[in-house]
Amino acid sequence: MKIAVVKEQAAGEKRVAATPETVKKFKALGAEMAVEAGAGLTASIADADYAAAGAAVADRAAVLAGADVVLGVQGPSPDSLAGAKPGAWIVAGLNPFGDRARVDAYAVAGYEALAMEFMPRITRAQSMDILSSQSNLSGYKAVLDAAAEYGRAFPMMMTAAGTVSAAKAFIMGVGVAGLQAIATARRLGAQVSATDVRSATKEQIESLGAKAIFVEKVAGIEGEGSGGYATETSDEYKAAQAELVSAHIAKQDIVITTALIPGRPAPRLITDAQIATMKPGSVIVDLAVEQGGNVEGAVAGEVVERHGVKIVGHRNVPSRLAADASALFSRNLYNFLSAFWDKEKNAPVLDEEIGNAIRLTQGGKVVNERLLG
Ligand code: NAD
Repeated sequence: MKIAVVKEQAAGEKRVAATPETVKKFKALGAEMAVEAGAGLTASIADADYAAAGAAVADRAAVLAGADVVLGVQGPSPDSLAGAKPGAWIVAGLNPFGDRARVDAYAVAGYEALAMEFMPRITRAQSMDILSSQSNLSGYKAVLDAAAEYGRAFPMMMTAAGTVSAAKAFIMGVGVAGLQAIATARRLGAQVSATDVRSATKEQIESLGAKAIFVEKVAGIEGEGSGGYATETSDEYKAAQAELVSAHIAKQDIVITTALIPGRPAPRLITDAQIATMKPGSVIVDLAVEQGGNVEGAVAGEVVERHGVKIVGHRNVPSRLAADASALFSRNLYNFLSAFWDKEKNAPVLDEEIGNAIRLTQGGKVVNERLLG
C-alpha cells in the first residue's frame, strides 16, 4: 500500500497534506510513504524532516509510481498524476461544486476521487472534518487581518494621555469560523456582537461573552438544514435581517462575514449603501469572498476601499497559517484513512455511510448523489 503526498500546484497554496507526524503514523499502520521533494517547504517542513520520519522523498514521477492513494490539500490536476495505479484514490479537498470539470476528468482518468469536504457531519467523523479544522484557523486569522488593516486599537486603553475606546466588532455567520472570530476578537479586547440565521447559535454567541443580534418573530427564522448547515431563508426574513443589519452596522468598526450555504453562492449580507453608513477607517473582512462574497464590492485576493471603509478579501485564508493549517489538515486525513484501515489487506476499506458521502468518482463514472442531482 503506497501513499503519495504531492506538492500543491495551485497558485498561493502553501499547505501540505502530510506532516512528518502523520508520515510516521501511516508507516506504523504499514503503509509505504513517498513525499514529493519540496512539498512541505511553504509550511516550514524540510524534506529532511519527512525523510527522518521514514518517507521516501523524490521527484513527482517517482512518488506517484505505483501509488494506491494520493494525498493533496487541493485536488491535484488529473493529468499530473501519471504513474498512480488505475483506480488510485485521490484524497483531498476537491471543490466538487466549484470545479465540476476536474471531477469529470478524474472519472475519465479512472481514479477514485474522495472529496474530504463532503465528509458527513456525524460525531465519528468530526476528527476527519477538514472544513472545521480549516475554518477555525480562518476565523482567527480574519480577526488578525482586520486588526492589521485597522488604524486604531482593539482594546480599551486608559493612558496618561487619555482613553482609547474599544473597537466594536460584528461577526456575521456563527459557524466554526465565526465562533473562533468571536473568541479571537474578544481576546483582543473588542466589544463583540454576532448574528446567524440558525437560532441555535444564539446561546453559543452569548456563552462566548458576545451580544447576539437576531431577527425575531419572522417566518423562516430557523434557517437550519441537514447536518447543522444553513438553508436559504424566506424573503420576509431576508428583509427583516437587512433592516436589523443596517441599524447595527453603522455603529461597528470591524465586521467579519463568514456566511455560507453549501452548494449555493454565499448569501449577500452587506450592501454598498450599508457600507456608506459606516465610519471611515472601519474594516470589513469577507471570508466568503471566494464563494461569491457576503459583501458588495469585495474582491477576491484584494483589499479595496469603499466610502473610506476597507474591504478585505484574501483568498485561501487557511493557507496564510500554512504550518498549523497543514498540521490539522494532515491529521484529518490520517484520522480518516486510519479509521478504515483493514489490517489484513493493509489498506483502507470504506463503509457505506462515509464512502457514499465522499466518493465522487468510481469505475470511470461520477457516482456522487450530490453531483448527480
Ligand atoms: P458554514 O461554513 O456552512 O456557514 C457559516 C455560518 O454562516 C453558519 O453558521 C450559517 O448558519 C451562517 N449563515 C448562512 N447564511 C446566513 C445568513 N444569511 N445570515 C447569517 N448567517 C448565515 O457553517 P459551518 O462553520 O460549517 O458550521 C455549521 C454548523 O455545523 C455549526 O453548528 C457547526 O458546529 C456544525 N458542525 C458540525 C460538525 C460535526 O458534527 N461533525 C462538524 C463541523 C461543523
